[in-house]
Amino acid sequence: MKVGVLALQGAFIEHEKKLHALGIETVQVRLPAQLDGLDGLIIPGGESTVIGKLAAEYKLIEPLRAFASDKPTWGTCAGMIFLARDIGNDRQPILGVMDITVNRNAFGRQIDSFEQALPVTVLDDAPFNAVFIRAPLVTAVDAAATPPVEILSTLPDGRIVAVQQGHLLATAFHPELTDDLRLHTYFAQMVRERASA
Ligand code: GLN
Repeated sequence: MKVGVLALQGAFIEHEKKLHALGIETVQVRLPAQLDGLDGLIIPGGESTVIGKLAAEYKLIEPLRAFASDKPTWGTCAGMIFLARDIGNDRQPILGVMDITVNRNAFGRQIDSFEQALPVTVLDDAPFNAVFIRAPLVTAVDAAATPPVEILSTLPDGRIVAVQQGHLLATAFHPELTDDLRLHTYFAQMVRERASA
């Protein structure tokens, strides 16, 4: 099993370290050909405008869209923005493959970073220590989407911060910046299941 990490900008090395800790081989993706033979892909946090601009320059938008339409792909923070179908009035290249509406920088300047222990439906009962850095929020999920969009985690006030739609996973927070391997383990399981299907 081989998992790519989009390595244009942002926290891609941290994701690779988590995957390596699980014994998974990784590939840094900067060119379309580097997607060949991958079983899954992680799009890291960083700055979604920069990731989008570089992806367009490197002719990666269409290949990434095709990959994410078929293979397990996980976007964290900026990566979640990049996967979303609707990001409101922001004009920047996105893949638009996931039926969610995302609001960038949803927490504003006052609280631009915070940590919060959150239950995640697909993990065991122990809360996940979620690190939010100038994070986006999922403001709407398309109720008519196929496959359906499942809400995996919300803040205590109900705002949505983790979702899954079939083989696509998105988290507003940064699991690669904590010691907790459970979400990477969960994604690896998604990749393994799809690869053997
Ligand atoms: N605010 C960033 C953006 O809009 C995302 C921040 C992050 O990935 N930590 O892309």
